[in-house]
Amino acid sequence: MEDEKLDEKPNDVAPEADEDVEIMPTDIVFDCPECGHNLVVDYRAAGLQVPCTSCGSIIQVPIPENMHLEDLDCDAGELLQQLLQTRRMLVKAEAAAQQAGEKVVELTQLLADYRKTLLAVKGRVETLQEAADLANATRQDVLDIIASVGGGK
Ligand SMILES: [Zn+2]
Repeated sequence: MEDEKLDEKPNDVAPEADEDVEIMPTDIVFDCPECGHNLVVDYRAAGLQVPCTSCGSIIQVPIPENMHLEDLDCDAGELLQQLLQTRRMLVKAEAAAQQAGEKVVELTQLLADYRKTLLAVKGRVETLQEAADLANATRQDVLDIIASVGGGK
């Protein structure tokens, strides 16, 4: 029974190396934001949306700030730089548009809340007015009674 633990060989096999992916210096390595799976994509996919090979979520490939352009041929380098710049701007614009959309939803909700509050306050004012009218009427009644009682003198 104690022999169950055989001497553990310190094997240096990577844990769950799903495929023999050869990582090129120009590849982009990142983790899926949804499932955390380590992904390796070609540099040309920088800034693009791709499906995660593990969970299938559509995720955006990050754009490395310091891409090694010297590994690419020089002619394409400048073009790629411009392409990356355009994609970065696109990503920022998309984020800004989404934020603006969220803000509109937020403000619309706020406005609806204000309207509700306003209606509630109006309702209270009416109630208070009615209460005041009732109090005045009651006061008048009491004064009338006092007058009629005191008038006997
Ligand atoms: Zn994933």
